[in-house]
Amino acid sequence: MPATARTPGFRAAAASARVRPWLWALPLLLALLLLGGAAAWLQISDKRDLEERQRTLLGDALSLEQQLRKEIDFERERLSEIARQADAGRWTPARLAGDADVSAGLRRRWVSLTWLDARGQVLVQVPDGAASTPERRGMTYHLSAPMNGGGSLLARYALQPLLTQQTPWWINRRYAVRMVDEFDETLAIAADATRARDGRVHRISFDPPVPGVWLELAEREAFVPWYRALPLPLLGAVLALLVWATWLLARQVRQVERAQAAWRDEAAWRRAMEDSLSVGLRVRDADGRLLHVNPRFVELTGYSERELLDHAPPMPYWHPDEMDEAWTRHHRNLAGNAPRAGYEARWRTKAGRDLWVMILEAPLIDAAGAQIGWMGSVVDITERKQAEELERRRNERLADQARLMTVGEIASSLAHELNQPLAAIASYNAGLQNMLATLPEVPPRLREALERQAEQARHAGRIVQRIRAFLGRRAPQHEACDLVAIADSALALLRHDLRRQRVRIEVRHEATPLPIHADPVLIEQVVINLLRNAADAQQSAEQPAAGAQAHVWLRTAITEGQARLTVQDAGPGLGGHSLDELTAPFFSTKASGMGLGLAISRSIIEAHRGQLRAEDAAQSGACFSFSLPLAQAGTRTHSEAALHE
Ligand code: ADP
Repeated sequence: MPATARTPGFRAAAASARVRPWLWALPLLLALLLLGGAAAWLQISDKRDLEERQRTLLGDALSLEQQLRKEIDFERERLSEIARQADAGRWTPARLAGDADVSAGLRRRWVSLTWLDARGQVLVQVPDGAASTPERRGMTYHLSAPMNGGGSLLARYALQPLLTQQTPWWINRRYAVRMVDEFDETLAIAADATRARDGRVHRISFDPPVPGVWLELAEREAFVPWYRALPLPLLGAVLALLVWATWLLARQVRQVERAQAAWRDEAAWRRAMEDSLSVGLRVRDADGRLLHVNPRFVELTGYSERELLDHAPPMPYWHPDEMDEAWTRHHRNLAGNAPRAGYEARWRTKAGRDLWVMILEAPLIDAAGAQIGWMGSVVDITERKQAEELERRRNERLADQARLMTVGEIASSLAHELNQPLAAIASYNAGLQNMLATLPEVPPRLREALERQAEQARHAGRIVQRIRAFLGRRAPQHEACDLVAIADSALALLRHDLRRQRVRIEVRHEATPLPIHADPVLIEQVVINLLRNAADAQQSAEQPAAGAQAHVWLRTAITEGQARLTVQDAGPGLGGHSLDELTAPFFSTKASGMGLGLAISRSIIEAHRGQLRAEDAAQSGACFSFSLPLAQAGTRTHSEAALHE
């Protein structure tokens, strides 16, 4: 099961999808908290202000009271001084009016000065008739200074001028200052009486020095608490705006959540669809870098999502034998020229298997309509391709077989045609030998030559017979024989040719005999063919200059429980061709080669349940070998049979 392919986008979406529902109310909560804090702070500051104002009021009242008391004390002092001087006899009642101190007192604030005798009778009053200036009317009070002999001096004064003159302007500006009696009747007022309705009022008793009188300070401006000082409509508007903004935010959040939920659903559907697809999908950016792959793509290529994502060309699944084609295709696709009907490509899976795919490319467009890459769908067409390849090979084979049959026909008729001349040669040879037998003296070399000629003619006849039998699809003539003997026989037949070709043969029989159950003539043909090929390979142009000796090694042995014959040469080797290629009918690199030798050899060996192999030799050259099953123990070999005969 391949790893599920996921784009980074999917993961991010899953995380951001968890929007906390209370988050949208956070701004409102914070604003309310801020307002609450500000209100609390203003409350505390108001309290501090009120206490400050209270302290100031008390301080101002006390200071004014002190001021007034000082004035009255001063007047009392002046009066006592006049009384002392009168006691000293300086004054007589008649002369009192003329006294400078008395005049000064009257100018200041005395309404009148009266001299009483011990019985309380008025001796004199200054000014006479108690004429007074308008501001010295109103409630008046008096000060008295005792005199020797029981008399006293009384100085009458009015509160109004005292208050008006002694109240400093800054106190007047802040407070409405007045003097009241115990019935709250105004006795004197400093300036105007305007006062705040809810303002603070402070009263201090002014008794003594003035009996039954209170000094009162009332605030002109009332204290305005913070909540009244604030422009409430503005505050209301701000709050309303805040609520509205929060509601908007909440609506927005809900919309986003709905959109996200819809998007998640869609992504899940898309995911499920992609996962169930039998088509591989890949998304690439404009440079060909992989952005997304679906599980099928991962499954097809065998590379994990991690190995593929963000991978830029060359891709790991490009076929190593077709890198140039892959690059050409890549550049063509990125230029937007990918065939509309799709194109085929050969890839290599991670496991090293060839994968044929049909790819359809489509431009990838983003929300703004701009092309940001390519979306490719990939279909596995390996089976179809394999079937096509199989079909092609079958057709080729059919064609080859047709040609082979034709060649077979020719060979068959050739063998048939050769039969007669060969028979003629044999009978002439027999006639000659019979004739020579009647002659008294015949050179032994002639007799020997004729015998060898007869043997060669018989051998040629056997070959023609076996080839006819083989081409006629009759079963080979299996018999017990010895592979070593067959190899020696083949060598004997070729010895002359090989010598001519200056080929040195090294033969090594590691086990002898090598009993097999086979058609010795056909096996001999195979050995001859291998030896001829080995010799031919060293006659080519690439070989060292003429005169250099070619080498062929022939070896027979038992390997893996089978009889094995190996022919190795020092030629150019197989040149990268596989056994299938070499044994294909009509494959030949020789100018006059038929390309049938190895094809026939392979079918002979396989018809004997053996195996033909071809490989490059360790140093240089080719190494062809075949193995055949060893004959059952007790089976008589060809050479043994020959010995017995
Ligand atoms: P032919 O000998 O007519 O070409 P064969 O079927 O015997 O046909 O050989 C097929 C081809 O295999 C040869 O043309 C040659 O290219 C190659 N071949 C066979 N034997 C050898 C060898 N020993 N060394 C190199 N190539 C060989």
